[in-house]
Amino acid sequence: MKNIDSRGAMTRIIHAGQHVDEQTGAVATPIYQTSTFAFKDADHGAACFRGEPGYKYTRLGNPTTEALEQNIAQLEGGCGGLGAASGMAAVNMVYLTFLGQGTHMVGTESLYGPSRMVIENEYPRFGVEASFVDSSDAQNVADAMRENTKLVYVETPANPTLKLTDLAACAEIAHDGGAILAVDNTFASPYLQNPLELGADVVLHSMTKFINGHTDVVAGMVVAKDPAMLARLRKVHVNFGGTMDPHQAWLVLRGVKSLGLRMDRAQENAMKLATWLEKHPKVSWIRYPGLESHPQYELGRKQMRGPGAVFSFGVKGGLEAGKTVINNVEVPTLAVSLGGIETLIEHPASMTHAGIPAEEKLAAGITDDLVRIAVGCETYEDLQGDIERVLDLI
Ligand SMILES: *Cc1c(COP(=O)(O)O)cnc(C)c1O
Repeated sequence: MKNIDSRGAMTRIIHAGQHVDEQTGAVATPIYQTSTFAFKDADHGAACFRGEPGYKYTRLGNPTTEALEQNIAQLEGGCGGLGAASGMAAVNMVYLTFLGQGTHMVGTESLYGPSRMVIENEYPRFGVEASFVDSSDAQNVADAMRENTKLVYVETPANPTLKLTDLAACAEIAHDGGAILAVDNTFASPYLQNPLELGADVVLHSMTKFINGHTDVVAGMVVAKDPAMLARLRKVHVNFGGTMDPHQAWLVLRGVKSLGLRMDRAQENAMKLATWLEKHPKVSWIRYPGLESHPQYELGRKQMRGPGAVFSFGVKGGLEAGKTVINNVEVPTLAVSLGGIETLIEHPASMTHAGIPAEEKLAAGITDDLVRIAVGCETYEDLQGDIERVLDLI
């Protein structure tokens, strides 16, 4: 399609990076399930290895994976993307590219659990230091910057506190300090937020979540704003080897086409459910960027096109009451992960964020009474009715 950039969001989601197959006319991108590609002759092989267009070996590039990379890169407004075996392979691609001996990173304190734990547990061996701060106040990021800070790494909305970080402000702070800004955009998806347009240099996704949306594949993606940065990332990525499999890419291509439809529906359900829960007598607090009670409601309206479909709430009676909720629901499933077509509910303090020391967990706002719900696309009345029933059990 010509002029894809000028089309509407739904059109771009469905068509960006997609081409009818020249040989067969196949409308869906075929799965090029091959590890290697034949060269026409020695000169052709040499040309491909010099960097001229042409496929060589699937870890270095594959047409199915490329169709997905181009799709997400266009949705994020980047110059290109790199498919990864998982969201964590994408996170580590960014860390490994921009951090090294004697460097320092500033990160959001309530990052996705493993994104923080891997920095604290593994990277010190390589001489990497990190400070984790409440980035919902950009001043905390500025205060944590050091001479050797090379990477500012934020997640917004953050998991599971749903705090927001001002991306334009953090981009300025990072660049003033000679660092780059990388953003984990998993919670919002490219449909609702585009960090590169707000000044970030790199954006990454766990496509396991909203982008794929069907709870049937684990996958990641990194998108860079400029070609030099993309080339640096690519070099690290193909040699560390956490690359994407073509079949995995094909599944995500299938999933992403309905991203807009799914997100609209899930967000509508989340908004209704959060509005209803906020007034429920058994609910002590709720944090959802779509509610005016969210401390950064205005920032959300400024940098996001919608509040998303994940929120956290506390039930009166703490951990025990929270357990009553998650043990008795019938419509939501008790499972970690988010962004699927079905509603999932979990308890971060004992599950996804259990590996973070108790004091730091509390400081990051991950309290024992916090229940996280990732709202899906079910019939709204079933969701509300089910949660109403379990709240009555408390
Ligand atoms: C799930 C998740 C990841 C990690 O992704 P995987 O696909 O599980 O490796 C990273 N960041 C966020 C915000 C996530 O939700």
